[in-house]
Amino acid sequence: MTPPRTATGTGTTRGKARRRGDRPGGAELLSAAVGAVPGGTARPGQQRMATAIEECVRTGDHLLVQAGTGTGKSLAYLAPALTVDGPVVVSTATLALQSQLVEHDLPRLADAVEPLLGRRPTFAVLKGRHHYLCLARLENSTADEPEDTLFDAPAESPGGTRWLGAAGRLGKQVQRLRDWALETDTGDRDELDPGVDDQTWRLVSMPARECVGASRCPYGAECFAEASRARAREADIVVTNHSLLAVDMLAGRHIVPPHRLLVVDEAHELADRVSSAAQAELTPELIDRSARRARPLLRPETAEALTASGDALAVGLAEAPVGRITSGLPGPLREACTLLDAATRTALDSIGDVKADDPDPVRKQQAKAVLDELSTTAQRLLEEAEHDVAWVERNDVTGRRALVVAPLSVAGTLATHLYDERTVVATSATLALGGRFDTVARALGLDSPPPGPPSPAASALAAATRRARPDDAAGATAPTPPDPADGLTDSGLGWRSLDVGSPFDYPRQGILYVAAHLPRPAASGLPEAAGEELLALVTALGGRTLGLFSSRRAAQQAAELLRARTDLPVLLQGEEALPLLVRRFREERSSCLFGVMSLWQGVDVPGDSCQLVVIDRLPFPRPDEPLAAARAAAVDAQGGSGFAAVSVPIAAVRLAQGVGRLIRANGDRGVVAVLDSRLETARSYGSFLRRSLPPFWYTTRPEVARGALTRLAAS
Ligand code: SF4
Repeated sequence: MTPPRTATGTGTTRGKARRRGDRPGGAELLSAAVGAVPGGTARPGQQRMATAIEECVRTGDHLLVQAGTGTGKSLAYLAPALTVDGPVVVSTATLALQSQLVEHDLPRLADAVEPLLGRRPTFAVLKGRHHYLCLARLENSTADEPEDTLFDAPAESPGGTRWLGAAGRLGKQVQRLRDWALETDTGDRDELDPGVDDQTWRLVSMPARECVGASRCPYGAECFAEASRARAREADIVVTNHSLLAVDMLAGRHIVPPHRLLVVDEAHELADRVSSAAQAELTPELIDRSARRARPLLRPETAEALTASGDALAVGLAEAPVGRITSGLPGPLREACTLLDAATRTALDSIGDVKADDPDPVRKQQAKAVLDELSTTAQRLLEEAEHDVAWVERNDVTGRRALVVAPLSVAGTLATHLYDERTVVATSATLALGGRFDTVARALGLDSPPPGPPSPAASALAAATRRARPDDAAGATAPTPPDPADGLTDSGLGWRSLDVGSPFDYPRQGILYVAAHLPRPAASGLPEAAGEELLALVTALGGRTLGLFSSRRAAQQAAELLRARTDLPVLLQGEEALPLLVRRFREERSSCLFGVMSLWQGVDVPGDSCQLVVIDRLPFPRPDEPLAAARAAAVDAQGGSGFAAVSVPIAAVRLAQGVGRLIRANGDRGVVAVLDSRLETARSYGSFLRRSLPPFWYTTRPEVARGALTRLAAS
């Protein structure tokens, strides 16, 4: 099948090089971009940020910029990016920001600066290979079904099975995707409307590790993923995401084109995304699926050995307690990994190399890739290296268990791979924890660029040692004073920092109320006194409340309380799809939306639908978060305070993100209520956490908070 496709671009290619000396500067480009927006006005923070980026591109220093909501930070980095010779890469954490850049900010910028540059700047999106339709996979998707999905248990019905034949739902969806393949220019899943579920998409897409490579693929010349990479190589600005950036860096894939400037937006997410990219897991289902896929290429006894190792893993996982493995792999899990290691090696040996004249090189490569990954993960787990953390995880929905391994720290990895060959600008609304950038700089590996590539274990230990200073989080030492001319602070370690604040007038627009009279929060759930406090605040305003809870149980209890004692519509995360809940919260003026961690960052509701944000407890990592627990334990083992160096900064970022849901636009007003008295009373970290938040007017008096909410309700 050869669907006709036209190559698309987003403007002219970078054929006509800009001449140095006659090109406009970042300030001029920014001014043109802002002037092209109806009602657009110059924002001082935006201008300072653009100027600082140009300065750091000139000096080669890396830059950390905290830019609050409303700064207009995307134009602040995109405008100076156009002054750089060669491509610039912008990486985001979320699809929402990526879409905003590609669909709004970049086209608008390109229109505005075209007269100044004498040509239209070009841009392209770069996503992981599995985001694109794979023509080779699509060709074989019917044949794949009996192998991979006929009796797969769907996530939404744990333990259940269902027939997924060609005449069923999957068959219809795949046919729809075949039709779409004939029309689409990009093959990008995000352009498929309406979309398809993950299970269907897996049938027609190809994970990067399983791709045979364009030169050996019968569809290589027309491959959508390859075409997207070709467009990225020609573009002035390439927009990608942290996960792809991480994989590119860790696996040395060189998908992201060489560049001199990398802008990491939503940079508070970078370390976690890199850590996730370096994480691997084993499940019995994964082994079983791999064995079925490889079976046609193996002798029966080799395939049997693979299946037996999956069975052994199932037994080991059923016996092992859920949580971090602290004193070596338990015997049954070790035995399962040993069996898997031997079985995958034998299988890989017998499959041999993928050759150009193989009858089905794509399938052979797929089988090899999954076996290779299983083999690598089994060996990594058996190694039990100091720089890795292993744990047993249980999926709350399906009940399935997995054996997971992840790096203790990614600071050394970032230091080794990220900073040498480019200027990095990392920006977010939440980077200066406790008013300082050094905690984030350490997490990003910026504080001590290594002289040469350290071993992963050395990196992990060095990072742990550096975190071992208990005064780090408390801010005992002052940073280098900022240059009063531009606010840029030089760390002396090759990076600078800048806090451009926010255009919002936080002390006048919002109140931070801490319920200091409440007892310390319970281990889980919503204590009665906190529930009564919540009820009083919400009824004073008449709804319009976003409740951010630390546990599902607390969110449920809060919803039950409000539903029993008020007539307000209460929306609870999990009861409907999240985008639908957020839309109803925005549109139903007196509604309340209650939920857990994904709401802390994912809700953007400007206006008077959200005038009260309630946080039930400080969002420290729970003891059962294995990575945070392992990182804290590593600091403790070095004689430091894991709580101060690991848990407090994590809570600071999460809290700032949650609090940041309140004021999203200039006219917004409201109250953030924290029902955890420790924010006021904890001497060691309370003020550090408060300094990490926007400068709201502060009170611990409940009657003041309720009075403000009553006035808001009447206004
Ligand atoms: S090159 Fe890889 S992703 Fe592209 S069509 Fe072939 S197998 Fe699929």
